[in-house]
This record gives sequence, structure tokens and C-alpha cells, in this order.
Amino acid sequence: MNDRDRLPTLFLSHGSPMLAVEDSPAGRFLDTLAKAFPRPRAIVVASAHFVADRPMLGSHAQPHTVHDFGGFPEPLYQIQYPAPGLPDLAGELAGRLAQAGYAAKVRPGHGLDHGVWVPLRRMYPAADIPVVPLSVNPMADAAHHFAVGQALAGLRDDGVLVVGSGGFVHNLGDLDWKHRDAPLAPWAAEFSQWMHGRLAERDWPGLIGWQEHAPHAHHAHPTTEHLMPLFVALGAAGNVPNVEVLHRSHELGSLALDAFAFR
Ligand code: ZN
Repeated sequence: MNDRDRLPTLFLSHGSPMLAVEDSPAGRFLDTLAKAFPRPRAIVVASAHFVADRPMLGSHAQPHTVHDFGGFPEPLYQIQYPAPGLPDLAGELAGRLAQAGYAAKVRPGHGLDHGVWVPLRRMYPAADIPVVPLSVNPMADAAHHFAVGQALAGLRDDGVLVVGSGGFVHNLGDLDWKHRDAPLAPWAAEFSQWMHGRLAERDWPGLIGWQEHAPHAHHAHPTTEHLMPLFVALGAAGNVPNVEVLHRSHELGSLALDAFAFR
């Protein structure tokens, strides 16, 4: 099968909610991304903004749009992303994760947080592909999230796009809010280079040990929920996938918006 005929899994950095509406390199990247692979029948998004102490799957048939952020311009709060859900798939995946040993559950009333709808609104503006949100667990490590992803391997050959939506470097306390185009801070660049190196080498054990070994790991991710979706996407790609760097950019001095395909 040609590479382009098969769905990859994706890690996307969703940045600030402004990414949904503003013209930026990361926004323009997302606008054309869906052309690079077949149209999926459904999308599973592991979002940094859906946290739980076990894998949870949103199973609403018509999930509402959640505006889970504060202090942004009013039009952002008016945005709706009315994609349907897919309760059957959510239930099937909860079953699959339970079989893999996780106390997975469906959450019937769950909506779409901005980690889900910000990138999807740019990739699939018609909102006509069903979406199933998947939680991450900020108390669990990269190995856990890699294994959760592995339990979902095979979905991409069943027409389901698995997306991890987080942030490649994400320290909201150390952003240069006054300078959107500020150069990447040296610590963020060092962390990013280390991560890119491990990914390029397809060194999964090294990558999974990022908290011990990556320079400035704690500074780059004071809390880990924005990096964990990367490990879900990586695991869901199947055995030793190829890593494709899809996008590299940053805003505000250290908010890295890098994106990857695993195929
Ligand atoms: Zn976020």
C-alpha cells in the first residue's frame, strides 16, 4: 500500500485558542494538512485538555463545543464545531482498552474541548467527520500513554485517524506575551532538538525516558499533559513507524507548535 493511501497517526500542537482563527504558519499548515492522506471515517483525538485518572472516551452522539479558556476575544467563544460523535466506536475502544488492562470508561455527556476543535476546525471545517475524544492522565508517564496508544494500533487501517493534540514545548508561565515573534528561547530550543533527535532516530525507549534525559524537561513541561498525546499517537501508529516532521514553528518565545506524522 502506498504511504499516501494509508492514514498516519498525528501529533499536533494546538497552541493558543487563537490558532482557530488567526493567520499564522501553524494555522496555514493545518489548513492544508488533510490533503496529505485519505479522508477518515472517524477521528479519535487524545487531548491535553481532557484529563482523567483512567482512559475515558467521549461517547456523546452530538457533542457540544466547550470553550475551556479565559481572557480571549469574544468571537472565539462563539465558535461551534458541530461534528457528530460516534458512541459505538467510543464503546468499542473502551472495550479494547479494558482488554489491554485499563479501567477505561465512556463518558456520555462529554463535549469537545479546544484541544480537539481548534485543530479540527482548520483541518475539517465542514465538521462532518465523527469525533471521539480520548483523555490523557497527567499522573501517568510516557510509557503508560505509549501503551494506551498501542492498544489502539490498527485503527488507522480501519479508516480512523488518531490524533494526539497537545504542545511540543508548553510552559505558559514562561511565554513572552508581548512578542509573538520572539526567537525561540535557548532552553526551549535545546529541549526541542533533543526530542527531534530521539524521534528521528526512532529511539522510543530514549524518548519515553524524556523526563530523566531531555535537557530542560521540567521547564519545557512543568505539567506533562501537553506532551502525553504525542506518546498516544506514537503508540497508535503500530510497530516502529516512520516519523515525519510535518511542521515546526513557535510563538511567544517558547510555545513550540511542532507537528509530526507517524506512519
Ligand atoms: Zn492546550
